[in-house]
Amino acid sequence: MSSVTVIGLGLMGKALAGAFVGAGHRTTVWNRTPGKNVAGAQHAESVAAAVGAADLVVACLVNNDAVHQVLAQAGSLAGKVLVNLTNGTPSQAREVAASVAELGGRYVDGGIMAVPQMIAGPGALVLYSGSQEAFAEHRATLETLAEARFMGADAGAAALYDLALLSGMYGMFGGIYHAFAMVRAAGGDVREFAPMLTAWLSAMMAATPEAAEEIVSGEYATEVSALAMNQLALPNFIDASKELGLRPDVLLPIQRLIDRAVEAGHGGDSLTRLVEMIKE
Ligand code: NDP
Repeated sequence: MSSVTVIGLGLMGKALAGAFVGAGHRTTVWNRTPGKNVAGAQHAESVAAAVGAADLVVACLVNNDAVHQVLAQAGSLAGKVLVNLTNGTPSQAREVAASVAELGGRYVDGGIMAVPQMIAGPGALVLYSGSQEAFAEHRATLETLAEARFMGADAGAAALYDLALLSGMYGMFGGIYHAFAMVRAAGGDVREFAPMLTAWLSAMMAATPEAAEEIVSGEYATEVSALAMNQLALPNFIDASKELGLRPDVLLPIQRLIDRAVEAGHGGDSLTRLVEMIKE
């Protein structure tokens, strides 16, 4: 079993440290505010002491400003690998990578595709990027937490894919919440509606690989569901929502993208053409 340090005992940090302890790794923890504990872990008195306790240091803090503040207290990182599982942008990841390199350490950025309850359980995924060599050395320990997928040597790659996946999630949830709001406002049973919605979204999800093919080829012409037809249908969703006393906020950005695409002469194209309209 190996040694690992976890910096940050928020909801996620606690889950990470608990998983390492559970797998039998010698685990040292540090948290800014004292009093947060993880059974079976050693508590370090300072960041420098925590970093000194293991070659693998996992940070999971509220944001990357906090990571920089912690690094300022770390001392030398010679011989250390910092795995930063704090959510942030690709540029922020590259900035943290530069700070870690200045301190003599190697850097791996990570994006956690799970909630704390999923850590060390089925379905949890963590994306990594940065030093492939450092990732390979510590892969077995990191796999304690979740499936580990390396996304590339650019430190920002994990954050990019993390944010892209989460963008997909927020868009999907926006649609789900609007659908529930419509059914509830009309007096329908949201429990009965939930499996219908799941089945419908699952069927629609099957179009994702095809959309990727369209994007790669730049061929958006369709005989299935053209933008011009969708443009005519959108006002129905918006008017029906308003009649139910609902704000159509979730639908309006999609309507704007479709309008712009049709105005630009793409009415015969599929919805996937909207990827081009998202570009600035
Ligand atoms: P919490 O708000 O529960 O914990 C935040 C942690 O950051 C605490 O340990 C806090 O310490 C620490 N912190 C805040 N500011 C500083 C600072 N200036 N210096 C040192 N430490 C600081 O957040 P989570 O644990 O939920 O999330 C942590 C990261 O994990 C975030 O980037 C989040 O996006 C990501 N994540 C979280 C998920 C979740 O479902 N919770 C899912 C996937 C990713 P203190 O106790 O002293 O306040």
